[in-house]
Amino acid sequence: MPHTAVDKDAKQAQVLLSKYFGYDNFRLNQADIIQAIVAGDDALVLMPTGGGKSLCYQIPALMRDGVGVVISPLIALMQDQVDSLQALGIRGAFINSSQDFQTRRAVEQDLMRGQLDLLYIAPERLLKAETLNLLSQSKIALFAIDEAHCVSQWGHDFRPEYQQLKVLADYFPGVPRIALTATADQRTRKEIVEQLSLHKTRQFVNSFDRPNIRYTIAEGGQSKQQFLKFLQQQHHDDAGIVYCLSRKKVDDIAAWLCDMGHPALPYHAGLSNEVRERNQSRFLKEESLIIVATIAFGMGIDKPDVRFVAHLNLPKSIEAYYQETGRAGRDGEPANAWMAYQLNDVITLSQMLQASEGSEQYKRITLQKLDAMLALCEMTACRRQALLAYFGETLDEPCGNCDNCLNPPVTWDGTEAAQKALSCVYRTGQRFGVSYLVDVLNGSDNPRIKNNNHHQISTFGIGADLNKTVWRSLYRQLIARAYLQVDVEGYGSIRLTEKCRDVLKGQKTIYFRQSVKTRTSATSNKRAKLATLELKDHDLPLFDALKALRTELASQQNVPPYVVFHDRTLIAMAKNRPADTLEMEQISGVGVKKLERYGDEFLNVIAMTPLENTA
Ligand code: ADP
Ligand code: ZN
Repeated sequence: MPHTAVDKDAKQAQVLLSKYFGYDNFRLNQADIIQAIVAGDDALVLMPTGGGKSLCYQIPALMRDGVGVVISPLIALMQDQVDSLQALGIRGAFINSSQDFQTRRAVEQDLMRGQLDLLYIAPERLLKAETLNLLSQSKIALFAIDEAHCVSQWGHDFRPEYQQLKVLADYFPGVPRIALTATADQRTRKEIVEQLSLHKTRQFVNSFDRPNIRYTIAEGGQSKQQFLKFLQQQHHDDAGIVYCLSRKKVDDIAAWLCDMGHPALPYHAGLSNEVRERNQSRFLKEESLIIVATIAFGMGIDKPDVRFVAHLNLPKSIEAYYQETGRAGRDGEPANAWMAYQLNDVITLSQMLQASEGSEQYKRITLQKLDAMLALCEMTACRRQALLAYFGETLDEPCGNCDNCLNPPVTWDGTEAAQKALSCVYRTGQRFGVSYLVDVLNGSDNPRIKNNNHHQISTFGIGADLNKTVWRSLYRQLIARAYLQVDVEGYGSIRLTEKCRDVLKGQKTIYFRQSVKTRTSATSNKRAKLATLELKDHDLPLFDALKALRTELASQQNVPPYVVFHDRTLIAMAKNRPADTLEMEQISGVGVKKLERYGDEFLNVIAMTPLENTA
């Protein structure tokens, strides 16, 4: 394309960004991606959650002739996506099984008449002959394949239909395809290219860092109490997601949170579809609800203002951890990823895996992933550096926004203690779990020890100088660093690995992190609350009034509050107090359509809420 045409496209993209979305600048490489699609090229886009993937196909769909077809796996979210588009004045629609026949017919007619900018559709629906037929009679601007990592067999969101999306290249030659994902690793990337036949495609890879998310991994033990403290100190009435391993724990925690005065709803596969949908929709629409869930919840959850994600059990891999925590802070504002785990989680996860149907190879890879997750939990250096390194990215400096950076763990030379702990495993025949081993080290009068004659071995009582908590933590760290291994067939018993030879021989010094409970947290009182951080006290009454108006408008229209305006936009209004339409238009997030629809009402509230005198 000649230069002038490129410049013209770039200018038009910029105009649309401001007109529809009310934003001044493109982020990351949005502008280049849009340029490529508008020019008719394919693209593979890797961008972290909250990076702004949707604009990469929404703007080209507006610029090119015809409708942009968005393939997305979760039909439950389509309504919100379409509502958001319509609020911006973009003609969006979806086709899925939740619709009645007439509604679908109406959408199909709009499609045939060329009256749609964007159409959302699930892969299984798209692949039906009748749908392909319908689309082949319409003008298609582009195909956007969202959550493209779903093609990956190894991933946790595998969807077989995604692999059939290859056919798009044959059915619709010349229509650009853009595949998007926030899941990073090399293997997945390769699989996407192969499965979707994107061999000659340009790849746009962004850093996966989520600098606004603060990572904290607390030590096990009283995880419920620790979690409660975290909630009370930092997220008093924020929306958040809590992940647990079992359905029973989900129900228990949700009920307990309600008792503690934090409204919470459960979400897991044991609940009826109806209840699940209702709970998910309340979570999206209310401002400060907590959802407690198994991993069944959350893929593609678009709620931008989730202020925290908490894990009360160990996730099964770093991929899962990163994706789940990634649901916090999509709006780019400060958010927390908080976790507490117990050694039992490792045993439960290993046993679940052992009992599963997977092949030996699958089990081996899955166990390795669990080991990597555990190592992340027990490390003493910057967690973000380790997370990014896991995905092949280098962060040069420690991040300053994870627990280990903010509050560096104290370490102690535990070489001698480690020798005792390891030889205790050896002397008892590598057949026992951590609780038993700790009892032997402490010289406890546990009758099982006598029955096994373990009160006569050399390690009995040699660890009486350290308490149980310290020993448990030490065992956990030895497992995390692969000096010991949980025997998946042996009910949580642990075994020595090759690696511990040097320690036992006294040829290696090892340091352990000191239990967190003995340290005081310097940062725990700082609330990750955006408005209170950014606004002066005298602006807060206005911010609250704007929020109240937003809630009212959202519930009238039966859409989530952020469909009306994001927090960021309300904060900008509270700070700048626009006095007329012209000034209002300058606020980021206020496009033409929203100005016309809401401008006056928000201007009214601003005019009626005077600056408060703060002495
Ligand atoms: P992703 O799908 O990558 O997780 P979204 O497309 O949902 O992210 O975008 C995340 C948020 O960022 C949305 O609220 C979106 O409106 C906002 N956003 C996207 N691009 C820009 C931009 N260039 N300037 C300001 N905000 C943007
Ligand atoms: Zn860090």
